Amino acid sequence: MIYLDHAATTPVPRAVADAMYAVLTEQYANPSSQYPFGTEMKKRVEGWREQVAALLDCPAEGLYFTSCGTEGDNWALRAAAWQNRHLGRHIVTTAVEHSAVLETCRQLEQEGWEVTYLPPDREGNLSAEQVLEAVRPDTAAVSVMLVNNELGAVYPVADIARGLPARNPKTVLHTDAVQGLGTFSAKALGADFVTVSAHKIGGPKGVGALYVGPRVKNPRPLLAGGGQERGLRSGTEATAQVAGFAKAAELRLERREQNRAHLAALWAYAREKVLDIPDMVPVGGGTASHILSVSLAGWPSQNVVNDLGAQGICVSAGSACHQGKPSHVVASLKLPKRVAAGVIRLSFGPETTFQEVDACAQALRRHHDTRMPML
Ligand code: PLP
Repeated sequence: MIYLDHAATTPVPRAVADAMYAVLTEQYANPSSQYPFGTEMKKRVEGWREQVAALLDCPAEGLYFTSCGTEGDNWALRAAAWQNRHLGRHIVTTAVEHSAVLETCRQLEQEGWEVTYLPPDREGNLSAEQVLEAVRPDTAAVSVMLVNNELGAVYPVADIARGLPARNPKTVLHTDAVQGLGTFSAKALGADFVTVSAHKIGGPKGVGALYVGPRVKNPRPLLAGGGQERGLRSGTEATAQVAGFAKAAELRLERREQNRAHLAALWAYAREKVLDIPDMVPVGGGTASHILSVSLAGWPSQNVVNDLGAQGICVSAGSACHQGKPSHVVASLKLPKRVAAGVIRLSFGPETTFQEVDACAQALRRHHDTRMPML
């Protein structure tokens, strides 16, 4: 199988699975238990927190484990809205966020909030000025993702953080950095909330983390309960998942430079190979080196995904989170119909090889040469 869908999820390396297995079978204590088996577990969880914090480059005391990136996004937005509810009831976000952000905004709208959804330009990009101009005296929160999961567009979160105090010093900034984990420093970004998820970096599914910066005092918990995670995220710690997240973070940190160089070379190579196919066009001006968005203009993307899938090549017709529904991200680019219908996403990981890219490009060319385009 050739797996070119790392933006959807990533394979778990053996070392990560081994770390999880040890916790499930031997170190299974509840970290809240008071005997040494439990208190040792608590210490281990704190060690794992430090490992994940090292990858984010943030203080471990600001990092809270969650069940997934979706939970982090829900929590951050609701905590930001709660903290600043006295300011007004306005939120600024983008039209191309992950549905974890967009659907939370829709819920908040039903609860009386006003949300401004900023459209990207035709390349899928947004400027910091465009975001800052939308901030008003009653803006409680701004939420702008770091890397768009469909286009690979990288948004200027650090510039927004720098400009925000002049527009409104109370407005808090959230960034969904799920697709950027391993490539940024939370300190350098300067956002008040940063959402990440383990399964995009070789960790298990079902665990994520939310970094909460020092400007946010007492963020309101999303889940009410037993008060784990220093009272902010109730629910027995998913210790095996957290151990896997920490191991994956350690591996990514160790190999950060190698991975960066490999992915940059692979992305440039893939772009050239794939765009050499007749009728293939780039989609958006994304620069994240693990996501390549293109369109076989005129050939419906679902047919491409099915044809390649039957040959054991996994690519995506857009975001795996949309399950076949037309993507709001592609729609926001206002592409010609034939281009929009043919959008496919190839996404890479440190394990992806140049040969795999070659095989995928050949399969795409065969699809073009042997299948009828739409009318
Ligand atoms: N945000 C972005 C940008 C994503 O790509 C994803 C997952 O695809 C999520 C949030 C949700 O993360 P999780 O699958 O851990 O809930």
